[in-house]
Amino acid sequence: MMNPNRGVLIAGNWKMNHGVEETRRFFDTISHQTSFSTPSSGLRVCLFPPYLSLSQAIEYSSRTGSVISIGAQNAHWEKKGAFTGEVSGMMLQEVGVSWVLVGHSERRQLFGESNTTVHQRALSLLEQGFHVIICIGETLKERQEGLTEKVLQEQIEKGVPQIHLIKDLPGELILAYEPVWAIGTGQTATSEQAQAAHQWIRHVLKTHLSPDLALRTQILYGGSVTPENLSTLLQCSDIDGALVGGASLKPESFASLIRQAQAL
Ligand code: PEP
Repeated sequence: MMNPNRGVLIAGNWKMNHGVEETRRFFDTISHQTSFSTPSSGLRVCLFPPYLSLSQAIEYSSRTGSVISIGAQNAHWEKKGAFTGEVSGMMLQEVGVSWVLVGHSERRQLFGESNTTVHQRALSLLEQGFHVIICIGETLKERQEGLTEKVLQEQIEKGVPQIHLIKDLPGELILAYEPVWAIGTGQTATSEQAQAAHQWIRHVLKTHLSPDLALRTQILYGGSVTPENLSTLLQCSDIDGALVGGASLKPESFASLIRQAQAL
């Protein structure tokens, strides 16, 4: 079901996969899917390659007339300076990147990302006009202990900039619910589990942002999404698309996800 206020977004996170040569091969193959050059109303598609493949992805995507936008998997909140190993939003804009992922669970678990730094990144990137996808989600232990709602609420209250900070900013805020236990495990949340979490997230957003913005904000589901389970998930009223890891790496399976979303 596509909510007319929100549309659908299919996003692919390549993580640390696909260098320049594999990126070229990916776009060569996917460009043969002619339907990709025909934007479908209400559907957006974007891919998040590693930094070094961004320029190539942007070039190939525009050369092949594809509707795929390109985003980065992270960005620093400062514009420039003594931050060894970091990349700023300004540098990403220079090469044509307009989307950024923030707070992916791998960044939180492996690289010390906190709700505070998620907030800093998101606010700065929204100020710079990016489409910003903030990822949230509970671990298996937290779910088993009945803490899912509490964890999601805390991640929103501490990590998502409040309405008074973002209401006049040029960027776009999007959320992705990614239960950590479902990422890369093949264990997708059931549509009931996912819908319940998405409904809760939208409920929390009503007070954190505003009722109107909560209704307009896209909330993606992520966690072992495949061409086999996407359509069931997209039937849920509060699921507005998917953030896809493994199944975005192969052009055939990513193409299949896009076709399904186009057919909604
Ligand atoms: C992800 O990386 O955000 C993700 C959801 O991965 P996967 O689809 O492989 O579970």
